[in-house]
Amino acid sequence: MATATAPTAAKPARAKPRVVDQKMLIGGKWVNSASGKTFATTDPTDGSVICNVAEGDKADIDLAVRAAREAFENGPWARMTPSDRGRLLNKLADAVEEHKEELAALESLDNGKPINDALAADLPLSIACYRYYAGWADKIYGQTIPINGPFFTYTRHEPIGVVGQIIPWNFPLLMQAWKWGPALACGNTLVLKPAEQTPLTALRVAQLAQEVGFPDGVINVVPGYGPTAGAALSGHMDVDKIAFTGETGTGKIVMTAAAQSNLKRVSLELGGKSPNIVFADADLDAAVEGAYFGLFFNQGQCCCAGSRLFVQDSVYDAFVAKIVEKAKGRKVGDPFAPDTEQGPQVSQEQFDRVLGYIAAGQKDGAKMLTGGGRVGEKGYFVQPTVFGDVKDDMRIAQEEIFGPVMSILRFKDAEEVIARGNRTNYGLAAAVWTKDVKKALRLANGLRAGTVWVNCFDVFDAGAPFGGFKMSGIGRELGQYALQLYTEVKTVTMAM
Ligand code: NAD
Repeated sequence: MATATAPTAAKPARAKPRVVDQKMLIGGKWVNSASGKTFATTDPTDGSVICNVAEGDKADIDLAVRAAREAFENGPWARMTPSDRGRLLNKLADAVEEHKEELAALESLDNGKPINDALAADLPLSIACYRYYAGWADKIYGQTIPINGPFFTYTRHEPIGVVGQIIPWNFPLLMQAWKWGPALACGNTLVLKPAEQTPLTALRVAQLAQEVGFPDGVINVVPGYGPTAGAALSGHMDVDKIAFTGETGTGKIVMTAAAQSNLKRVSLELGGKSPNIVFADADLDAAVEGAYFGLFFNQGQCCCAGSRLFVQDSVYDAFVAKIVEKAKGRKVGDPFAPDTEQGPQVSQEQFDRVLGYIAAGQKDGAKMLTGGGRVGEKGYFVQPTVFGDVKDDMRIAQEEIFGPVMSILRFKDAEEVIARGNRTNYGLAAAVWTKDVKKALRLANGLRAGTVWVNCFDVFDAGAPFGGFKMSGIGRELGQYALQLYTEVKTVTMAM
């Protein structure tokens, strides 16, 4: 099982890679944008420019969709056997694995995450995801159905066609793997728009896919901004499905564009405000570790972060003292240094947003127990911050902060905490810490969330579906369930 784990110490220091200016991949060719425009991708440790990247817009999306359509209908991909598709996906997994040090360094440079985290979590989870869906490629089939009358009826699970995919910056490699694995296993062709903050690993993995033999046009990558390239993709008349991961507000825009164009199929993986619930009978040290990891991992930039930490009254003070001590000791700094646990936030915008939420917490009367400011004078580093005595209606308990800011709330009993845990428009994940099996199951049943972790947090596996209830999304990625997102069911009935 591949599990996201905290980095282990004593790894060698690594060097920042040098990156040349980047083109986009359309129809098997690396090209400049139609407009000739580029945008800079920057290093979040100091705001300096890493390189310039071809900036895609509507004209480039049109070309990419046309290439994907051609590959879907007429290219070698259209005639390839399912097991050969699986072999290609396995080769891609091998290539990513062979280049894992390089890809981890690129991810760390562009996103700011500690390179040891990228090597411990992002890379193994991405590789496992490609392998998992390689295995599915020749196991996607329908049913024979005994209908009334002299008929033979069966279903086929066919690829949807040309798929548009839009991903965020927090786990660029992994979100790409979650999107590409099932889409390609099912036989679709695709156009990916990576986040404008982190386009580099998407382009490098596309290059690897080309090298291992994916036919031209099956995979197209168009970097660019959301309101331009992203909007062109989600509103395109010849895109059959759009898969989006990002903020709930953007998800609504994408879904509206899909509805107003060709009613393309839509799957959404959106935001969260996940309750993490610690009962007095839990193994407190394990719960402290889990709550700390579940919030601060990846600079707090996780859709499923345990960002509403409910702690039962009788252990509240002891728990808070332990977690504050851990937060104070967290090592913030250079993502390439071997002992760094927390790098910078991804951008100035996110840095400002997180500091804005810290100010809101103070204004609303929450008790700031540690942190609250920036670290250093340049880059987007934020102190690990813990708020106690948080109330349900405060903004820091309601809205997604997406930063290293922990909000701790008290509760009395199971009934109360289930109701309060569910009092949110989100429903992505939840966790419960207790030694009482009955209580654990009661909570697991009662919490309205796509994933419930019991005595653990952030356990991800390519086989376990992930997605949201309520405004956290539509559809499930990962596991067998994700195949439904990338196939159409056809019913064939023949008179006998
Ligand atoms: P975002 O919505 O701002 O951007 C995500 C992507 O959408 C980017 O590629 C962006 O360019 C694009 N985009 C922006 N405007 C668009 C538009 N008008 N039309 C089409 N595309 C557009 O989100 P973000 O800030 O990059 O990512 C953070 C969010 O992602 C958080 O809310 C987080 O919870 C969520 N997230 C969810 C999951 C999940 O699995 N549920 C996983 C990771 C991140």
